[in-house]
Amino acid sequence: MQPTGNLHLGNYLGAIKNWVELQKKFSCIFCIVDLHALTVPSNCKEIKKNTLEVTAAYLASGINPDNQIIFSQSSVYGHSDLAWILSCHTPIGWLNRMTQFKDKAGKNKEKAPLGLYSYPVLMAADILLYKATHVPVGDDQKQHLELSRDISQSFNRYYENEFFPLPEPIILESGARVMSLKDGENKMSKSDPSDNSRINLQDSSDLIYKKIQKSKTDSDPFPTSVVNLNDRPEISNLVGIYSTISKIPIEKVIDMYLEKSFSVFKKDLYEIVNNEISVVSDKMNRLLDDETYLSKILRNGAEKASVITERNLKEIREIIGFFK
Ligand code: ADP
Repeated sequence: MQPTGNLHLGNYLGAIKNWVELQKKFSCIFCIVDLHALTVPSNCKEIKKNTLEVTAAYLASGINPDNQIIFSQSSVYGHSDLAWILSCHTPIGWLNRMTQFKDKAGKNKEKAPLGLYSYPVLMAADILLYKATHVPVGDDQKQHLELSRDISQSFNRYYENEFFPLPEPIILESGARVMSLKDGENKMSKSDPSDNSRINLQDSSDLIYKKIQKSKTDSDPFPTSVVNLNDRPEISNLVGIYSTISKIPIEKVIDMYLEKSFSVFKKDLYEIVNNEISVVSDKMNRLLDDETYLSKILRNGAEKASVITERNLKEIREIIGFFK
């Protein structure tokens, strides 16, 4: 996760909450990718504060720092070094196919920073530096993980070895994509200029209430069936959030509110969202009061991560034949 501030309900339901489950099955490495945040300079004015916010969100949601590794990317040596090495095994044509660059750079590609263009190579380095075998990815990162696999093979082929594994995607079942409260066609995002488009993890109950009350609906009545959600992106989103948090299937949610008004539904949705978020945000606020503790977690995590990266970097240097 990038430390770019405004962690929101989408980050929580689509990513963090699922990652909490993953730690039951895997040894996990949670890297707060501050080097990636630099690719959009305007997003990272308060990088230290935002790094602590993500750390607090991880801990408050239940990621266990004793068994898992939580650290900030820039504090572990090797991510940028490996990115450089891997960039020399990445044909430009592969990067030209990355749709996210096209989306993020927009019309003014010539002025986009080189880092925004080459960041999928840094992402490959983040994964391969740990010889990670599995990566949880949302839709927006599938193409980049595919690229990491290609880069891994490209390096292995060139040096005629099997050093890097082929990282497998973990497609999260309940990785519901939460959309903006103002526009059901666009995802809820930290960088949306309208704060009313998202529910931030640190919003007060009052603010959550207001944002849900103001969320966009349409002039038709509450849907009568799942089919009735087609072409109603804003309603699909609100019903989806209700269903994801309550674990009640969408069809059942629709049955429950048949012939009721949106205002009744929104009141209940507020209760559900607020119950879910307030537990996390109360813990987050307590943790954020103790910067010393959060810094210690990050430093310990960086030490544990460095044990792995130093071992792997040593082998990578040997494979390449760098002078010792
Ligand atoms: P943002 O797009 O808000 O800047 P990031 O790109 O830092 O967020 O995403 C961090 C994680 O949160 C990623 O795993 C991403 O897939 C997930 N995520 C971001 N926005 C949403 C959303 N609206 N719904 C579900 N998951 C999301």
